[in-house]
Amino acid sequence: MLPPEQIIIRPPVEAYSLLIAVTGGCSWNKCRFCGTYKGMYGTTQEYAIRPLEDVKKDIDQAAKHNYHGFPVFLAGGNPTSAPTDYLVEIVKYVRVKLRNVQHVSCYAKALDILRKTDEELKKLAETGLDIVYMGLESGSNTVLRLMKKGTNAKSFIKAGKRLLNAGIKLSLYIILGLGGHKYTEEHVIETARVLTEINPTIFRFRTLNISPSIPLWEDLKSGEFTLLSPVENLKEERDIIANLGENVTSQVFNDHVSNYCSIESANIKIDREMFITTLDSYMNDPRIKQMPRKNLTRM
Ligand code: SF4
Repeated sequence: MLPPEQIIIRPPVEAYSLLIAVTGGCSWNKCRFCGTYKGMYGTTQEYAIRPLEDVKKDIDQAAKHNYHGFPVFLAGGNPTSAPTDYLVEIVKYVRVKLRNVQHVSCYAKALDILRKTDEELKKLAETGLDIVYMGLESGSNTVLRLMKKGTNAKSFIKAGKRLLNAGIKLSLYIILGLGGHKYTEEHVIETARVLTEINPTIFRFRTLNISPSIPLWEDLKSGEFTLLSPVENLKEERDIIANLGENVTSQVFNDHVSNYCSIESANIKIDREMFITTLDSYMNDPRIKQMPRKNLTRM
């Protein structure tokens, strides 16, 4: 088992950031599509909040070795589960010890955000927490319940709006194919609805893959759950974009190795037609139509 100071994951976009471990593992760790802390990377990690002094020592080390000018990612499955005063102290320390920090970011769970007051969220924003990455995965309550996400659409909407109102940018993750064939339509319509309600700063797609350490593996093997084909995944993305409300101005990325396209937009309100036309052309491409479904068991 890895200790919390040894980090397992960070968003792809934070690949060149300075990683400062704040929490280890995940306080929930029950999502049926997630193997991150259940052995997917060859080891497990228990949930823990690191002692403040240890985190500060890591920041001191980074300063000593001249890690100035980098973005800083406060690592761990859900650092926002930690008390606000502890997080404020860490963000402040980063800003004092490191020069020209491009941004400070971390993962966040919706229920952790809802446990904090508006004043606490504002304090985090003012101290310099710039952006949080949150796994919405789906806007469908049916899919969220089946996948044991532990959060419903209403809570995501509330948490998302409160973060944005506090001045913290929000990047949401959507998992294509998470409803399988059975719930693909509901997954599309409800995800578009939740994105429309929140209008997050950014949303990003990734594609469901199921490795043997993930609880959903058994359902895949028994045929209870089925993976969408490349074209079906592209169609889900296309239909989510097509069903967004006119108010949505989010940046959109496909910056994950699991995806079947890499289209992006700086403002989906402006680029919606381009996005849909491009995805239509991919879906009609005979090479993509014949492409076998890849199930990545290591990423
Ligand atoms: S998806 Fe996120 S919340 Fe769910 S078990 Fe994995 S790390 Fe925890």
